[in-house]
Amino acid sequence: MLELTDVTLTYPDGDESVKALNNVSLTVEAGTFAAVTGPSGSGKSSLLAVASTLVTPDSGRVSIAGSDITQMKSREKAALRQGKLGIVFQSPNLIPSLTVREQLEVVLRLGGRKAREEGVARIPGTLQAVGCSNLADRLPSQLSGGQQQRVNIARAIIHEPSVLLVDEPTSALDQERSEEIIELLAQLTHERKLATVVVTHEPEQLPSFDAAFEMRDGVLAQMRHRMAA
Ligand code: ADP
Ligand code: MG
Repeated sequence: MLELTDVTLTYPDGDESVKALNNVSLTVEAGTFAAVTGPSGSGKSSLLAVASTLVTPDSGRVSIAGSDITQMKSREKAALRQGKLGIVFQSPNLIPSLTVREQLEVVLRLGGRKAREEGVARIPGTLQAVGCSNLADRLPSQLSGGQQQRVNIARAIIHEPSVLLVDEPTSALDQERSEEIIELLAQLTHERKLATVVVTHEPEQLPSFDAAFEMRDGVLAQMRHRMAA
């Protein structure tokens, strides 16, 4: 579960400052597929940056899988990211010289030896879960945009996180490919009981989500909620 309580984040902007997050509260339970939508510059990526522990807010509380990160040292946050968080950025950023299997091995190498060995055993199942079983030996240049995004998602879930944070995963894809990626993320969320937040500015995707939030000028409002199945 992911919980943000009264989170405020201010960026300096010349002599002024920009309130990227203004008293934002958000709860996403395990197994819930949540969308955050809103105009460009409204604070959506800032929300994910704070939820991913990469940016420390001015005030407020962030809790990930039961751990309050507010007082954590950077080493503890890094361990939490490697254990509990899956992060999918907008562009796949796969390493050009590595095969699909090697992309996953690289992330697993960040954990300890035990985590690595257990993780390697999960590679086939994870590739199957994202529909890429037959692509393990391919290089990124031999994958379509949709396939690259699937591998990107595999890389984010290979360590079996509790919370999945995804920033505009379909902005580089056509509509059909986009729908497939959203459906894949929904399925993974429900099957693996993830607390998932997807930033999207494509309103036609919203019916696929269990909950939808809208960000405007750093203020988050809930648009819709239904209980996870
Ligand atoms: P969105 O993802 O909705 O487009 P962002 O979270 O990226 O919005 O940005 C929210 C506001 O914070 C914008 O006004 C943006 O210019 C500002 N901002 C974002 N990141 C930084 C940064 N690193 N330094 C200064 N201002 C930033
Ligand atoms: Mg953004």
